[in-house]
Amino acid sequence: MDRPRFVIDSAEAEQMAKQSSQTVLQLLPSLVKSAQTLARPPISKYHVGAVGMGSSGRIFFGVNLEFPGLPLNQSVHAEQFLITNLSLNAEPRLKYLAVSAAPCGHCRQFLQELRGAPDVKILITSSEDEKENKTNNNCNDKDQEFTPLSHFLPHRFGPDDLLEKDVPLLLELHRNGLSFCNDLCNDKISGGDDLKRAALEAANMSHAPYSGCPSGVALLDVEGKIYKGSYMESAAYNPSLPPAQAALVAYVASGGGGGYERIVGAVLVEKVDAVIKQEHTSRLLLQCISPRAASASWKSKEQENLQLFLSNVNLGEGLGCREFEVDAKEAKNDEQ
Ligand SMILES: [Zn+2]
Repeated sequence: MDRPRFVIDSAEAEQMAKQSSQTVLQLLPSLVKSAQTLARPPISKYHVGAVGMGSSGRIFFGVNLEFPGLPLNQSVHAEQFLITNLSLNAEPRLKYLAVSAAPCGHCRQFLQELRGAPDVKILITSSEDEKENKTNNNCNDKDQEFTPLSHFLPHRFGPDDLLEKDVPLLLELHRNGLSFCNDLCNDKISGGDDLKRAALEAANMSHAPYSGCPSGVALLDVEGKIYKGSYMESAAYNPSLPPAQAALVAYVASGGGGGYERIVGAVLVEKVDAVIKQEHTSRLLLQCISPRAASASWKSKEQENLQLFLSNVNLGEGLGCREFEVDAKEAKNDEQ
């Protein structure tokens, strides 16, 4: 059976549309239901699917992720997943978005980080379903209406209120200029260099213009595959997406469909002197979502492999830099 996919390239999207006698734009809402099946909402059981089209013509899926045992604000909304998916695939612009339920206020705000946000066109498929049920007519009009984001969130507060015009926005190229100031040779797990480099790359792509504290997380699975996620900030602060969540989006979007317990290593990169820190919540999240990590015993070899490496980096010269390692056992004791 094919792995679930979260990206459809433009040629295939056109082919799919042709086969169903639709335009690619008409195809978007018809894919929302299949996106919903990929959601992971064990708390609400409310599956949200978001299907977006970028300026390249590629189609991207987004789904909601919920994490039992953690505060609800650690959840990832489908629209945030979608934007992270575009970012992971270097898609510069979101043009259309079809989503199964009306975007919540949090997501309407998060989307403001995009260049040209007011013009992103949105279609809510649940309301289309209702319309069809109510009218039940023979109208064969497939041109469902996309409505600009400015309709959903008038009087916007966003990057324009806080940033200069030339500051890169979300999905635009970021070069944060972070580098490790100590060598990468002192590894405790095989492939650790790659994991640290991936986390550094993610931090360098991070969108953190408001705090000036970019960060990135790289996750390692049991097969040795690496998934990286960049911290993404919102002008309104609270809708910001932490780097560990972004890396989990990369893990889910890779299509493996596996449980989070398959994640056995993680690196967080953030500045030593960061005003806002991801360290504690990243550790909490990663310990919580892995049943093995969350179990009372930490003694098996596999469990010992779940180590969170916290690699601090330095921006510029002359600042202190340290790198340290916290194993799962110590981290657990810290919390008690
Ligand atoms: Zn939302």
